[in-house]
Order: sequence, then C-alpha cells, then structure tokens
Amino acid sequence: MSIATQIKHFATTLPQGVQLIAVSKTRTAEEITIAYNAGQRLFGENRVQELVAKHEHLPKDINWHFIGHLQTNKVKDIAPFIQLIHSVDSMRLLKEINKEGLLQQREINCLLEFHIAKEESKFGLNVEEACSILASPDFIEMKNVKVCGVMGMATFTVDVDQQRLEFNKLKTIFMQLKSQFFVSDAGFKEISMGMSDDYKVAIEEGSSLIRVGTAIFGDRT
Ligand SMILES: *Cc1c(COP(=O)(O)O)cnc(C)c1O
Repeated sequence: MSIATQIKHFATTLPQGVQLIAVSKTRTAEEITIAYNAGQRLFGENRVQELVAKHEHLPKDINWHFIGHLQTNKVKDIAPFIQLIHSVDSMRLLKEINKEGLLQQREINCLLEFHIAKEESKFGLNVEEACSILASPDFIEMKNVKVCGVMGMATFTVDVDQQRLEFNKLKTIFMQLKSQFFVSDAGFKEISMGMSDDYKVAIEEGSSLIRVGTAIFGDRT
C-alpha cells in the first residue's frame, strides 16, 4: 500500500483515544510530505540532528515527537519546538529538559520511559527509580517540564502473549503512577506503546500513542 493509503487507513481505523505517530526516521522530506498531504501531522524522530534539519525544512504545523535515546547535551537543540519527548530515562535528563524549557520560556512535555522488554539493550527506568524521581523535591520544583505519561518498547518477538504481558506491565505502571502522583492531573494520560509489528496488541492493552514507521513507509534500508 502507498504511504497516503496507509495514513488514511490508520486515520479511519484507529479507535478513539489512540493517536498515530508516523515514525519518519531515515525517511526523505518527499516521503514525509506525502504523509503530510494525506493529513498526518504527528511525526516521530529518534536522532536530534536529523530532527532539527527536518523541522527547519518541513511545514511548521507538524508536531514533532522525539522517540530515541536523548543525550543531555542535545536537549537544547530540540527544546524550542519539540511537542513531546518520549524517552526520559533519568533525573539528570529531566533536569536538563527543565533548564532548557526555562530558557525557552516554555513547558516541555515528557514521558517517562520504562524498561519492559527482556532484552538488556533497551533503555528505561524501573518503577522504583521513577517513584524516587517523582517524589523528589527537585522534581516538584520543576516548572518547565510536564510529565504526561509513560513509554515503553516490547521485546522483539513473534510471541504475542509475551508482547501482551509487557504492554500490560506498562499499563499497570501507568495506573500506579497515576494514583500515586497524578490523581488530580488530567494531563497525565499518555501511554506510548506499539510499533509496526505489535501496535494492535498495544491498543488492546491500552495504548494512547502508537509509533509506526515501517507499516506506513515500508522497510528501512
Ligand atoms: C523506529 C522506532 C519505532 C517504529 O518502528 P517500526 O517497526 O518501523 O514501526 C517506534 N519506536 C521507536 C522508539 C523507534 O525507534
């Protein structure tokens, strides 16, 4: 299926409350423009340099999400425009985002990334680390970051039960943090989970943001 057909297919079939992030890493401006012209406005990138260049050259009403591992010294490059950073995995990074948010006089939306997969290589916090961040006076004083929810990546596997287990784990973490730290905060509402191969299971398990690349743009070379 073509890029435009895929975008329209997602737009008409996604359940209410689930948003599609078109993961455009490695894709050309032409490919992104096809998706844009089909109505897509939410795009995800995982490299700062590539994102900054695309932000400069593509329409200004695109909502850019950062989904890759973020180094503290790169935060300043995306702080002026980023809509949501999915990959906060340390207090140090959160402090840096807050600092750059203050300089830009904006509040930067973030998700806490959790390690839910079996692979060791994937980044992310565990629940204890997240609770200690959220309970800390340093965090409570931060005025220029807004924690909007959680993000995770499931194990790369064809075992649907395993995927489901891991997505369910992330949903449970979300609900625990919600009740412990964000009960009266309607802005804590996002669960970013699900990619091309597992987004259907992720949606069944409560995803609000799916991050899909290959299923829209085809295989990455
Ligand atoms: C590349 C990437 C995706 C999209 O992967 P596809 O399999 O192409 O859908 C989703 N999330 C993250 C964090 C990624 O790096």
